[in-house]
Amino acid sequence: MRPAEFGTFFLPGPTEVRAEVLEAMLRPMLPHRGAAYEALHARIVQGLQAVFRTHRPVYLMSCSATGAMEMAIRGAPEGPILALVNGAFSERFARIAQSCDRATRVLSVPLGDTPHLEQVEEALVAGGHDGAHFAAVTVVHSETSTGALADIHGITELAHRHGAMCLVDSVTGLAGTRVETDAWGLDFVLTGSQKALALPPGLAFAVASEAFVLQASVVPARGRYLDVVEYEEFARRAQTPNTPALSLLYAADVQLRAIREEGIETRWARHAAMLAHTEAWVEAQRAAGVGIGYLCRAGERSPTVSTLTLPEGLTASPVVRRVAELGYVIGTGYGALKERTIRIGHMGDHSIETLEPCLRAVGQALRGG
Ligand SMILES: *Cc1c(COP(=O)(O)O)cnc(C)c1O
Repeated sequence: MRPAEFGTFFLPGPTEVRAEVLEAMLRPMLPHRGAAYEALHARIVQGLQAVFRTHRPVYLMSCSATGAMEMAIRGAPEGPILALVNGAFSERFARIAQSCDRATRVLSVPLGDTPHLEQVEEALVAGGHDGAHFAAVTVVHSETSTGALADIHGITELAHRHGAMCLVDSVTGLAGTRVETDAWGLDFVLTGSQKALALPPGLAFAVASEAFVLQASVVPARGRYLDVVEYEEFARRAQTPNTPALSLLYAADVQLRAIREEGIETRWARHAAMLAHTEAWVEAQRAAGVGIGYLCRAGERSPTVSTLTLPEGLTASPVVRRVAELGYVIGTGYGALKERTIRIGHMGDHSIETLEPCLRAVGQALRGG
């Protein structure tokens, strides 16, 4: 039983986790160098390959998604990095690059916007300091702090045309909206367990292209725990370099079976339907005189998280608190938008049916009910 103060989760992470998935974590331990573990590992990788749409190995990392962001930076080709920043998580990617001593140029766009291809191309043409060509571009697919969705396919094509690799954080994109790792030629793409995959926090999953791993092998100072080359070597044996968070992997095994049964394209469609439903609900609120709206333009909204601006005179914290009393956990805004917006995470295993009562509660809270 859930304590009364914890409602149903519509946070943009961690998301609601089904009981069957939580219960899988009660299984006994296994030695992580042995056939039983390797079978579990291989099964999880196979499930994730269908989610990432790749034939490459998927690295099972026992850290949160930020660890996989750092892996991407540490293994990135030498040379300046172009960081596309449109919110808190894309800014985190830029900061990681800077803290790993990479020459980084930031291309910032306003909160709620998404980096447009013309701007990206212009920055790629201009190059880093002294006009040096960029070795890599960082981009966040679904910027969870604002709800903006970036065109990672288009940005990757541009990066490649200018000789750069594209490193993609798809933490709230993957498993909620189309990601074509192989067909789009993504060089590095990563996610975390606690978002659209609807698993408990604590795991990150990442895929690197063969070209990325090949060039990484000559990059100095890749560190040890987050070394992509080592992950690649152990992936061939269906193992991880270090002791994996086994209980979380049991949960992933159960959840990936459910995702396979649903079908990844059906899962994407379910998320698109939840966005459309939330958009229609916002329109209905506006028609009834409640002054809420989307932070992002139509067509640039993530199917997994809606960031809504509040009516004049309302701040996020009391709204979120009232919605929690009504049984639903949603998020305030993030960073600079903390009190000006609320965020509803409609991702993971949610559906229009489970989302509808949450939206009703938000509507009630906005009316002061
Ligand atoms: C949640 C999130 C992360 C990673 O956060 P962790 O706390 O490391 O799991 C990174 N990027 C985006 C877009 C996210 O939503």
